[in-house]
Amino acid sequence: MKITKLICQILRIPHVEHKTASSQDSVLVRVQTDNGLEGIGEADSSPEMVKAAIDAPFSHNIACGLRQLLVGENPLETDRLWQKMYRATMYCGRRSVMITAMAAIDMALWDLKGKHFGEPIHRLLGGSFHSRIKAYASILFGADGARTRAIAEKWRANGYQAVKFGWEPMGQNENLDVELVAAARQGLGDEATLLIDAGCVWDARTALQRANRFADYRIGWLEEPLQPDDVEGYRWLRDRSPVPIAAGEEECGRQAFADLINRRALDVYQVDLSRNGFTESAYIRQRVEEIGARLCNHCYTSPVTVAASLHWLTTCRDAFLFEDCVEDSPLRNELTTEKVQAKDGWITVPDRPGLGVSLDEEFVRRFLIVSSE
Ligand SMILES: [Mg+2]
Repeated sequence: MKITKLICQILRIPHVEHKTASSQDSVLVRVQTDNGLEGIGEADSSPEMVKAAIDAPFSHNIACGLRQLLVGENPLETDRLWQKMYRATMYCGRRSVMITAMAAIDMALWDLKGKHFGEPIHRLLGGSFHSRIKAYASILFGADGARTRAIAEKWRANGYQAVKFGWEPMGQNENLDVELVAAARQGLGDEATLLIDAGCVWDARTALQRANRFADYRIGWLEEPLQPDDVEGYRWLRDRSPVPIAAGEEECGRQAFADLINRRALDVYQVDLSRNGFTESAYIRQRVEEIGARLCNHCYTSPVTVAASLHWLTTCRDAFLFEDCVEDSPLRNELTTEKVQAKDGWITVPDRPGLGVSLDEEFVRRFLIVSSE
């Protein structure tokens, strides 16, 4: 089996809002083979930048676009192909957007591998520990306490036993920060799990003050309180915080996670499959389990990545929550024929070959911006 074509497609909803929500567009990679199979993958990054990383022509031996590295290769050799891509992009890659482009390709290769062997990806990764996982509704804060409380009530009524609120307007001042968290707790009631995603807004000392105040509202974790590169700040904070500290969604690839893991900087490591792919995420899982910390997915895009996240998270023995983006975007809900959505607060792990989802081609045509091959 050989790769014959690597198609890159960008989809976008007509009206993109200025908010921290990556479910407003999508970049898909479709890897096709000489025996008629197709694997699909997705990156969560700037779609046009991912596309450039794939389309770019050869410049020199360590600065090369990804497509030409893959055509003619055997798609089953996922580890070797990851290393081939990594080495051939060292001048322009190693972190961030190039790794996200590689992640989308890697996701598509594992989808192909699953289809080739007739097995779900979680089995090829070593086996599933869970048939379903408790989902948390992941959504942005309202503009103030009252609107945040209404959002909390809505998703609690929808059956979720856990809800996460994130990003703006957190970080403007202490009173508003506490008002948002208090209102979220009020809206959820005493029983539900409340998670808070600060959105990289504080220095470590301020974050510790907030963690102490938020502890009164029994939050399940405080996510991304600091700038992603402040690893020492995370280590300092985790040693002192009364609530668990979570982060990791900014990180792309094993090298990006290495510092956080080696310095025991977090309680919960959040791995985004559309920013790491299966090959790297499987390695990161082993390293995090080795240090006795917890793992969760990060996912704020389409059902392609939702399915990928489930295949990976179910291989984590201690998986305890699944991030389920509940943004009201058609890309989150309608991109695939199979709906991958939580029911009564639980989400089922797909069990069909590969990712177990297929693209709704009519939907793809409707939202397609540009395509290259
Ligand atoms: Mg987050």
